[in-house]
Amino acid sequence: MAADAHRYKMGDIEVTVLSDGFRMVPVDGNYLSNATADDLQKALAAAGQPTDKMKNTYSPIVLTTSGKRVLFDTGNGSAAAAQSNNERGTLNANLAAAGTDRSAIDVVVISHFHADHVNGLLMPDNSKAFPNAEIMVPENEWKFWMDDGEMSRAPKGRMTELFANNRRVFDALKRQVTRYAWDKEIVPGVAAKGTPGHSIGHTSFVVTSAGKSMFVQSDVCNNVSVFAPHPDWHGFFDQDPPQAAATRRKVYDMLAAEKLPVQGYHFPFPALGRIEKSGNGYRVVPTGAT
Ligand SMILES: [Zn+2]
Repeated sequence: MAADAHRYKMGDIEVTVLSDGFRMVPVDGNYLSNATADDLQKALAAAGQPTDKMKNTYSPIVLTTSGKRVLFDTGNGSAAAAQSNNERGTLNANLAAAGTDRSAIDVVVISHFHADHVNGLLMPDNSKAFPNAEIMVPENEWKFWMDDGEMSRAPKGRMTELFANNRRVFDALKRQVTRYAWDKEIVPGVAAKGTPGHSIGHTSFVVTSAGKSMFVQSDVCNNVSVFAPHPDWHGFFDQDPPQAAATRRKVYDMLAAEKLPVQGYHFPFPALGRIEKSGNGYRVVPTGAT
């Protein structure tokens, strides 16, 4: 298996983690709204990380369950690969290198409507990246971003840009999606769990097979070196920062108590770890495989 793909079994379900690359993020006063750039630098230094820039990585996964190939989130898209000299948007290339053509994906499950999760739904010519896949989206996320009233009231800047991007992507797909509800099984062995705050309809997933379980957290926390030890910090990318922080504590208390393995979309590749309590927060212990 190529270095940018990692495969393991979770009960009878096969999990393939695929790198969609990375983006370097500046360490400055814009990243956190309730802590300073100095606090951020100290947290990174404490984690043994560089303090001038942070590496934000993207790791979509494919689950093979009951004979279906189910992709969770789509990365930044092939157009971003061309624009970034293949730093990001590398999902399709890594999927092919791991032996799966994108036309063989049966279902795409979207966790939330941020660009690094939905832009990969389209090829650079706006055709479907996964031409044979059913696209499943959280129903409350869909309702918010497709509501013209919400769009008209959105603060200018990041939010209006997100509305425009989501309309661009889903209009190109003729809005042909299946909306799913929380607390239901959405594909065999996978239940959707509401973890709001990062966005209105932000969703995580519990995967269960043959008596084993794991948690797919999506963006409950972004940079683990920053938000695991400081779960109450507010990132600029969280739509409702207090709710995001409350969700983070609730989910990580549960994961630490139940010792569940967790796939974290923005964890360092292969984006797999376990959560432990540490001080007033948490620590993510990386695990190569379950
Ligand atoms: Zn994200």
